[in-house]
Amino acid sequence: MFISDIMESEIKFLKGVGPKRAEILEKELGIKTFRDLIFYFPYRYIDRSKFYSINELHKDLPYIQIRGKFINFEKTAAGKFKKKLGATFADETGVIEVIWFQGTKIILDTIKPGVEYVLFGKPGSFGSKVNMIHPEIEEAEKRDKSLVSNLSPQYSTTEKLKNNYITSKTIQKLIDILLKSMSGKIKETLPAWLRQKYKLDGLEKSLKEIHFPSNIEMLNKARYRQKFEELFYIQLNLISLKIERQTSIKGIAFSKDKDFYVKQCFHKNIPFNLTAAQTRVLKEIRADFLSGYQMNRLLQGDVGSGKTLVALLSILIAIDNGYQTALMAPTEILAQQHYHSIKKFLKDIDIDYELLTGSTKTSQRNRIHERLQNGELKLLIGTHTLIEDSVIFKNLAYVVIDEQHRFGVMQRAKLWKKNIIPPHMMVMTATPIPRTLAMTLYGDLDVSVIDELPPGRTKIITKNADDSMRLAVFGFMKKQIAEGRQVFVVYPLISESEAMDYKDLEDGVESISRAFPIPDYQISVVHGKMKAADKEFSMNRFAKGETQILVATTVIEVGVDVPNASVMIIESAERFGLSQLHQLRGRVGRGAAQSYCILMTGKKLSENAYRRISTMVQTNDGFEIAEEDLKLRGPGDMEGTQQSGVPIQLKIADIAKDGQLIQYVKDIAEDILSNDPKLEHPENEGMKKVLQKIKKTNLNLGLIS
Ligand code: ADP
Ligand code: MG
Repeated sequence: MFISDIMESEIKFLKGVGPKRAEILEKELGIKTFRDLIFYFPYRYIDRSKFYSINELHKDLPYIQIRGKFINFEKTAAGKFKKKLGATFADETGVIEVIWFQGTKIILDTIKPGVEYVLFGKPGSFGSKVNMIHPEIEEAEKRDKSLVSNLSPQYSTTEKLKNNYITSKTIQKLIDILLKSMSGKIKETLPAWLRQKYKLDGLEKSLKEIHFPSNIEMLNKARYRQKFEELFYIQLNLISLKIERQTSIKGIAFSKDKDFYVKQCFHKNIPFNLTAAQTRVLKEIRADFLSGYQMNRLLQGDVGSGKTLVALLSILIAIDNGYQTALMAPTEILAQQHYHSIKKFLKDIDIDYELLTGSTKTSQRNRIHERLQNGELKLLIGTHTLIEDSVIFKNLAYVVIDEQHRFGVMQRAKLWKKNIIPPHMMVMTATPIPRTLAMTLYGDLDVSVIDELPPGRTKIITKNADDSMRLAVFGFMKKQIAEGRQVFVVYPLISESEAMDYKDLEDGVESISRAFPIPDYQISVVHGKMKAADKEFSMNRFAKGETQILVATTVIEVGVDVPNASVMIIESAERFGLSQLHQLRGRVGRGAAQSYCILMTGKKLSENAYRRISTMVQTNDGFEIAEEDLKLRGPGDMEGTQQSGVPIQLKIADIAKDGQLIQYVKDIAEDILSNDPKLEHPENEGMKKVLQKIKKTNLNLGLIS
């Protein structure tokens, strides 16, 4: 058998695993092969050489160990359907209650009376009594001394794994068996020259140290090597994709002197000057258009920085060159919003453009399809309906995608195929992405940043309030309305189907109607369950100033542009993520008046919620908020926690914390590829093989190249 094949062996062939465990390991942890297991890294290390005595325990301690005996078991009902198993566990200093809600049969079958056990878990409390729920249990005698150290690795497990006797300890034992059997056979994946130059551990050594650390220095070195490698290959892959694309794909080249529509738009419909940042970004786009390369650009800018206008002006360049263009948005409301703002900018200009969404009528849709194919339509605005196969362009040269994060790379790739020569692409984000995250997710794109807001915008004043201040908040709203301003009140709607959330909204509408009675006040209500036409009607009344208050769910998160609105009230603000709060706040502060954002929350906040709310109160800067958001949502150290905010799974590196390393390895990867773009030099051969494998297994990125 080839050495590389051993790593790919199915996990069921490992001693101590077998078909049943293999199935569970795959289902619960995605571990299919020897490689998957070896690269299943601990999420933290704990001192397993130290024991607490029971009389030292209190609920604020982290995970700890105690040693003693079970003296009594008792089964009781916990709630209507749940059974609970309680046991008294004693050492010479006292007793503690140990509790299980699941897997109670296994416990009763395996625990022996009078035998000494080691329990590992987090102390909790019930009333004044300290307890421990679902601890890890080991017989003290049988404890494998070789696996006990003051840096004992902890692996994430699930309830299901535990019920099948697979604990963190079990995983550690399996890895021990595997590492021993693979000793000397693990093939290095970083070239020797690179390891030497950047002082990196060998692969096998680093794996051993990560799973069985000798000391903290060796562990840190090993983790560094793994992080380096993980981030390095991500960058190498992205940069090589970019190089491949630039050399293999011919782009549509525009010519310099065609600017008829751009000029008309400026003269007729743009009453202000572009910001310096807008001008710079347009210049960057134009340079790409003229270069003969296909543009792949990410446009970042804070809410209200004027991305839409930049998109439109660049679209006009393509139209000036005689080509068709498309603008794609993630939701129908946002597509409509784009359509309407573009309408203003294209007033009295002779360009054919249309809106195509899921609710476009068939006859209209057919007409659009026809006019796209014969080339009459120059700009198509719409939702993901634009990707459908029935949408065929005559000469599509430029696609702008708004809000990248809601579109997959696959959808981007599909758009490429809409023209023989792939069209130029620009993706715009709704809110800024932290730099390191952008580098990791979109490293194959060029990035433009609009880092400046149009002049005259005042800072939005943000405050936190709780229910006891509601009357004062209503009073403030009345004062603003008396000054001619309008107010948004937004309710969280986590899931469209959650009856609870609608109840909150309904109660809110009721209390606002009571405090702001007709005929002095008019209120609009908009939520996701309404028909599109009703939504639009309500929204339009508010936009025209016929209603003073818009009560809504987060359907207004994106797009809505009502410059006269100066107050944004966000209910249950602690339930929103940072970027969503920032998006919502961006709905005000669009006019000349001083604007306000009031974050209504409960009195007591979790630490995480507190940090989100205080970040919002402290800063208006979207880039700063994005950094904080990444820190808060990044991989936690909780058991089984996943990177909720980050759409790619890293095994060991942390995009929030390893920013410097990301930049460092990116520079190294760029350096290597600029000297050896196809990795043909003999000393880079191993690297090339790893990269080829990544490309093969990484469907997402593979598709686009
Ligand atoms: P974004 O999409 O980046 O959130 P928009 O493109 O919606 O921002 O722009 C917000 C508002 O600012 C719009 O009403 C737009 O017309 C206006 N705007 C854009 N650029 C400028 C500018 N240079 N000066 C003044 N207003 C601008
Ligand atoms: Mg916008």
